[in-house]
Amino acid sequence: MKIKAVDTFILRGNGKQGAYGDLHAFLVRVATDDGLVGWGEADSHPHMLRAAVEAPMLNDVTSGLAAAIIGRPALDISGAWHAMERTTSYAARDGVTRIAMAAIDLALWDLRGKEAGKPVHALIGAARRKKLPYYMTYRLGETPEETEANARFVRDYGAPAGKFGWHPLGRGAREDEAIVEALRSGLGADRALLVDGCNVYDVESAIARAEMMARYDVYWFEEPLRPYDIEGYRQLRRKARLPITAGEVASDVEELSRLIEGECVDIVQIDLARTGMTQALRVAELAEKHGVRCVNHTYTLDINLAASMHLMAVLPQIDLLECQLNANELRDKLLAPKFVLENGHALVPDLPGLGVEPDAEALDRFSID
Ligand SMILES: [Mg+2]
Repeated sequence: MKIKAVDTFILRGNGKQGAYGDLHAFLVRVATDDGLVGWGEADSHPHMLRAAVEAPMLNDVTSGLAAAIIGRPALDISGAWHAMERTTSYAARDGVTRIAMAAIDLALWDLRGKEAGKPVHALIGAARRKKLPYYMTYRLGETPEETEANARFVRDYGAPAGKFGWHPLGRGAREDEAIVEALRSGLGADRALLVDGCNVYDVESAIARAEMMARYDVYWFEEPLRPYDIEGYRQLRRKARLPITAGEVASDVEELSRLIEGECVDIVQIDLARTGMTQALRVAELAEKHGVRCVNHTYTLDINLAASMHLMAVLPQIDLLECQLNANELRDKLLAPKFVLENGHALVPDLPGLGVEPDAEALDRFSID
């Protein structure tokens, strides 16, 4: 069974995802000469991702990703991965090219699962759990009053935990404390509160914010510093009385190993729409050696969420699964089936492959050039 075609889809939805701008998504479909298809997604600039996939092959070290793998055996994922890595070494080794590789890698895992008639978690290990404790990510308000109402919305939704962050955090110590106080008040004392520090702090203010958040029983403090401020994260983690998390922007094991080996984080956040499954497994192995727990970062669609659930089903040391509560028309209408949430847990998908498929009509409706 050989890879016959690699097709890209840039999708645009109506409305905004919370405060985070227009809705867009990038999907890849890998088809084999047997007629089997696998789906993957990537989270970056969709038009740049498309160029990384569709650019022609110029030579052995300067190629688009599709040209590097068409004609290769579809079930040899590590072979495809190395072919993509080698043939892009002069085009761009990291960044958007590596993120586009994640979409293809997820599609190949989806294909391999469908071919075997097994869910991806059964291909990457032995499932330790059938359901995962989760949290819902939702936006902050412009004012503490609106923020408190948003936290209450998460509580009323039934989520056992909520994560909030980005704008307007980072304006000052008093303003930040008012936000955290409003979140705790709206969410209630019995729900876990997670705060995303949105990369805006220096080390000194991040340590001070961590101290303040510990007083409000914040469950984790995410990415308060620039993504690769390795020394800063090391200092922060040493001083903080609550877990520090980071890693969502990284696309490969080299990047994430700096955070793990540098003793920068208690929990590493792996975005499978940036790393793919093959790299995520390598990251998880390294994290286990260093006693670092692995969680997903999922801002995009349910292909990412499904892949994350398969991964977190098999890993020894995990924490809460991220699910999104911010409205997103693409997430709501594009992929089926929807995942089941019950009693504070998300059920790990058990269908062959990743376990979600795009709806053909919705794919057509949301696709743009
Ligand atoms: Mg984040």
